Amino acid sequence: MCDGDAKTGIADAIVKDVEYLSGLQKRLESARDVVIIGGGFIGIEFADEINKAGDKNVSIVEILSHCLALAYDQEFCIEMEKVLASRGINICTSSKVASIAGNGKVEKVVLADGTEIKADVVILGIGAVANVDVAKKAGLRIGLTGGIAVDRTMQTSDKHIYACGDCAEKISFFGGRPSPLKLASIATLEARIAGANLFGIRRENAGTVGVWSTAVGDHALATAGLTEEMAREQGYNVVVVAIAGPNRHPGTMPGAAHTKVKLVFERNSGVILGGQAMGDPAAGEVINAISACVQSRMTAEDIAMFQIGTHPALTASPIVYHMVNAAEMAIQKMCN
Ligand SMILES: Cc1cc2nc3c(=O)[nH]c(=O)nc-3n(C[C@H](O)[C@H](O)[C@H](O)COP(=O)(O)OP(=O)(O)OC[C@H]3O[C@@H](n4cnc5c(N)ncnc54)[C@H](O)[C@@H]3O)c2cc1C
Repeated sequence: MCDGDAKTGIADAIVKDVEYLSGLQKRLESARDVVIIGGGFIGIEFADEINKAGDKNVSIVEILSHCLALAYDQEFCIEMEKVLASRGINICTSSKVASIAGNGKVEKVVLADGTEIKADVVILGIGAVANVDVAKKAGLRIGLTGGIAVDRTMQTSDKHIYACGDCAEKISFFGGRPSPLKLASIATLEARIAGANLFGIRRENAGTVGVWSTAVGDHALATAGLTEEMAREQGYNVVVVAIAGPNRHPGTMPGAAHTKVKLVFERNSGVILGGQAMGDPAAGEVINAISACVQSRMTAEDIAMFQIGTHPALTASPIVYHMVNAAEMAIQKMCN
């Protein structure tokens, strides 16, 4: 993050320090033009929070064609961009930052096409890397993505040292290749594995499924496992179903929110590879249920056979329950 520091203007790491962050908050109070570089979940949440002050021009600059494109299929990204735009946030996608310019302090962000965006605070929501200085000094092996190399028990190249969290190298649940994901939920899982194994090896890490949510106002977007695009890129033969409808029954019940669930299955085995959910904050728990299905390698048939609990004021109707109906439709598609 960079708050226009007089000397360099750029902090070289995510500074998790109350004093530093209080300084940033104070600086933001007097700021008029704020530019966030990077439209991932951290970037859009920063943008929305800063925009809530109501007296600033907040812009997000994203190099990909959509914000959140590394985590969601395009249709979900577009929906979230509409929400951000409706709240007054300026979104510049397919835009590469060429420089951050100013005289002694930040004054503008210059894009590769020459566009200049006025800025008195710039926040970088990009490029998080593992902090492995101590591990390097200790002579530990470093993995391909720059994290401390660990085996499935979270043991490093020194059998007396375990590593977990953002500093540890991750592998994907799908195929076992290195994964760049860094999340608190992954860190805590790894901590439960490493902690248990300190007393005798008994837990192994199956790899990172990749499940997380983001929220802008009451609008939540959540993902688990592979998106349709990722699955196709990785060579899976997929069956994809999206179901949309209210999460109460009838849909006119107070508190009902339009909810969309998309599930991605491998065609031949019927195994679920991933899912995405969009709707009110309940989407954050819907995705955890989907993640459990992915981690258990459930099939569409398993999900279609779920014994679900429903209530008019709490859930979707049992006859149009998103996950179950998506699985039923996927089974039909697999038969064709
Ligand atoms: C803005 C933001 C929002 C996020 N939102 C989410 C979210 O919604 N959901 C989610 O799952 N994840 C989220 N994350 C990611 C999440 O914060 C991290 O994955 C998580 O904090 C990693 O935990 P950790 O314990 O590995 O590292 P950290 O939380 O970074 O803790 C490491 C600690 O070690 C200290 N330290 C470092 N070096 C040394 C040293 N040499 N000696 C002593 N202490 C040292 C650091 O100061 C720090 O306090 C977010 C991250 C950011 C930046």
